[in-house]
Amino acid sequence: MATIFTHAILAGSLSQVAPKLEKKEKIRLIILLLTVSVIPDLDVLAFALHIPYEHPLGHRGFSHSIVFAFLMAMLASVIVIPKSEWFQLKWWWILFLIFLAGVSHGILDAMTTGGKGVGFFIPFDSSRYFFDWRPIKVSPFGTQFFTDRAWLILKTEIIIIWIPVLLATIAVRIARRLNKSSKAT
Ligand SMILES: [Zn+2]
Repeated sequence: MATIFTHAILAGSLSQVAPKLEKKEKIRLIILLLTVSVIPDLDVLAFALHIPYEHPLGHRGFSHSIVFAFLMAMLASVIVIPKSEWFQLKWWWILFLIFLAGVSHGILDAMTTGGKGVGFFIPFDSSRYFFDWRPIKVSPFGTQFFTDRAWLILKTEIIIIWIPVLLATIAVRIARRLNKSSKAT
């Protein structure tokens, strides 16, 4: 995996392009975006259950797939939006954002230097995939992360993910403000 921080930052930033929501809904959305972005790595339990890495239920398997991201998005979107608004445009938009947050986990993992590839198409195809561009150093789990390597790992993620996300967030905010003031005049 990339570090948990990077998964969360990328997913959390998606809330910037959410439709207009009530405060409660927005908080629920942010919490769920962060949650779905890190849930896939609970599959490390597979190691404890002696499920091999390359098995469809192994690490970076089904839990990192597009189908799993969609299922998480279905479940999470009905938590964010009240039943009366399900299947309306706002709900679809939220579903899509949560889906992106889930898929972003596998995308970041497919850009890492270690482990095995990501099973994006499980259960239809159990192949594992990496992108050709793999600048992210694979992050160890748990307390092993807090070693000398931590800074080395974070440095690349800050440059290729955190800074672009920050710039995109600023750009969205400026665009929104300009839009608001042009409507006001
Ligand atoms: Zn992962």
